[in-house]
Amino acid sequence: MDLIDVRTLALAASISAGAFLLVPLMLMTVVDSEDDKSLRYWAAGGGALGLTSLTLALWGLQGNQLAITIGNTFAVLGMGWIYLASRYLLGLERGRRYVYAFTAATLTVGVILTYVVQETPLRVIILSFALATYPAMSAWLFVTRRRRLPAPLGLVTAGIFAAMSCVYIARTLSFASIALIDQITDAPVVVGALPFLIELVFNTWLAAMLAIVVSARIQARLRVERDLVAQANRELTILSTTDPLTGLANRNRVDNVLGVQSRRAASREVPLVVILLDIDHFKRVNDDLGHPIGDEVLVQLGHILTSQVRETDTVGRWGGEEFILVLPDTGTTEGLTIAERIRVAVASADFGIGRRVTASLGVSWYRPGDDAPALIKRADEALYEAKEAGRNRVRGV
Ligand code: GH3
Ligand code: MG
Ligand code: MG
Repeated sequence: MDLIDVRTLALAASISAGAFLLVPLMLMTVVDSEDDKSLRYWAAGGGALGLTSLTLALWGLQGNQLAITIGNTFAVLGMGWIYLASRYLLGLERGRRYVYAFTAATLTVGVILTYVVQETPLRVIILSFALATYPAMSAWLFVTRRRRLPAPLGLVTAGIFAAMSCVYIARTLSFASIALIDQITDAPVVVGALPFLIELVFNTWLAAMLAIVVSARIQARLRVERDLVAQANRELTILSTTDPLTGLANRNRVDNVLGVQSRRAASREVPLVVILLDIDHFKRVNDDLGHPIGDEVLVQLGHILTSQVRETDTVGRWGGEEFILVLPDTGTTEGLTIAERIRVAVASADFGIGRRVTASLGVSWYRPGDDAPALIKRADEALYEAKEAGRNRVRGV
């Protein structure tokens, strides 16, 4: 069997295990929470398998019995850790105790068979059988929970674990047959090379599978988080621009709109009208009927205002019982007409409180050189005039 140099193969397997170990370590730097546990066990498993191949390559294959026992124990532990890693990766927990108990039992049996009973074939049979256990369990895990991974990763991974398990079972059987028929052939050497060969494939595949699965999960989590942030942003935008009582634009938003529209009026030379509205003697409504009824009047007034203007106009609550309307592309006469229409609509509306509600309105329109504060200031002056003139009327400057 010069064709395959088992020792070189074992060294190559240990190097591939080292490379396999790097993948979970790298992923651990970008992953947190649930996948973290899985990655720790993948890394530990890769490390243990690397030590196994290295121990066997350096000492075991030369016939050092202790190295063979320890190497195989590392392998059992590594396969156990990989089984645990698989459980965590596939969304299962628990089972840790058994891995250590199983490893300890394997080591004990291995040491007893090596030094006390000195039964080499029996030791190989038992250790190989022990080694076949966890890959078989992992294979079963990946078959039954394959839907947790993007297809066909689950089944391919199960196949690789099954192949690993079969190789150890083959070694068990071949040594069992030697022990039984007491006939030495070179079959064990072939079987001896196979685990390392399979391990090369095993390590490479597991590293690739892990990288694919974990990065897909990171992507999915990022997507969810991005959506949540976008949603929170939308909610924040609404909250920060809306008056909670009336649902109208709040002062912030009106300031914004007015800034934009006054600049637009300046640069495009289009007309712009601002209307300030203040409820007349609103204090009396509160005093006579209570604050909640006052609130209800404010809400209803908001509906009236919105129903009186275009989609492109902005209706906002300027503060307290004062409202503001920003009417782009609206000329002076049209603005005064709309203000009058609003005044009539308010005065004739039934608020359901057993009394009439009126409002005074001040109108300003864009003049060259105006900015938002100038427009507000003149609308406020006009409103003051309307109040002075007896309320329930429109004034414009
Ligand atoms: P005027 O005709 O001169 O405007 O008289 P007014 O009573 O409306 O004016 P004043 O500024 O004296 O009172 C405004 C009242 O608006 C006082 C305040 O309690 C009431 N108000 C302000 N904000 C709210 C609110 O959010 N809800 C209620 N219910 N009342 C409010
Ligand atoms: Mg007021
Ligand atoms: Mg008032």
